[in-house]
Amino acid sequence: MELIDQFSRPINYLRISVTDRCDLRCVYCMKEKMNFLPKNKILTLEEIERLCDNFIEMGVKKIRLTGGEPLVRKDIIKLIKNLNLKKKNTNLNEITLTTNGTLLEKYAKNLKKNGVDRINVSLDTINPKKYNEITRFGNLEKVILGIKAAIKNNIKIKINTVAIKNFNEDELVDLIIWTNKNKIDITFIEVMPMDETDTSRHLQFVPLDKIYQKINKIFNFQKLNQNTGGPAVYYSGTNISNKIGFITPITNNFCANCNRVRITSTGKLYMCLGQNDHIDFREILRNDYSNDYIKERILHAMKIKPKKHDFLIDEKTKPYMERHMNVTGG
Ligand code: SAM
Repeated sequence: MELIDQFSRPINYLRISVTDRCDLRCVYCMKEKMNFLPKNKILTLEEIERLCDNFIEMGVKKIRLTGGEPLVRKDIIKLIKNLNLKKKNTNLNEITLTTNGTLLEKYAKNLKKNGVDRINVSLDTINPKKYNEITRFGNLEKVILGIKAAIKNNIKIKINTVAIKNFNEDELVDLIIWTNKNKIDITFIEVMPMDETDTSRHLQFVPLDKIYQKINKIFNFQKLNQNTGGPAVYYSGTNISNKIGFITPITNNFCANCNRVRITSTGKLYMCLGQNDHIDFREILRNDYSNDYIKERILHAMKIKPKKHDFLIDEKTKPYMERHMNVTGG
């Protein structure tokens, strides 16, 4: 079976936020003081797995666990282990994570053992002082040790870096050189106007086309014709052998090939990261509804999946999004 949305896009990729909690507070992601949800509002691992089973039976092939920080969720390895077993007799062929890397040193071996072969690590700077500043209290050394542990365990890493005005704009070349040295691909991402943080979005946002033009003078980028199924456009460059990706949700909409939907840690299915309409599965899961009913709601989601996001960042416009990124994850 294949899930197809109202614009004939095949949907085979599910992202699930397993917790709204994070051990960092990146300034563009969350406010300094956040209220996290009580445990009973968050889906249990069994509820997450049941949702996954239904999506897999309907054609989902790839699942990404995110958050908050997925590795702070208690028993996360148990969930990954159970999902990994499903690869044997279903169409599921990949389980991956987006993580800040702080707990990777602890978990890398177990992740690999349970079928996680690739992960995205979020890293906006390789300057320890700046890292501490952007994450509000993070320790870069822990992340570097985590990345090394993942590489040692044969987990392929991609770094995701959010380009932030007056913060890392001038460090992106160094990040390319550092990732190239470590044989890691890197993707730059524009800040998105998710719910408000302590600084106005227009003071964080820097358009990636501006950055591309600047750093292209150094690397003489060549566009790669590979289709990764994701929104990034990848380039190779002179004197580097890693791939450099650009994700431009603000300056260049890429939704025509969208292949994904997202579930929050509370069980809300968002058909688009940049829209507010959703279907709430938590009460369905907790009130004895059948799997047939869950599938019916998933099919309905396909009929209402929006064509595209409408992100706008300017001085006057308050973010239209009602949630921070830790709710739906990245
Ligand atoms: N804790 C994990 C991590 O750091 O990767 C997973 C969750 S985090 C919300 C996922 C990604 O979203 C990170 O790469 C983070 O930098 C990014 N992110 C958070 N807020 C964002 C925003 N407003 N615009 C663009 N990316 C954002």
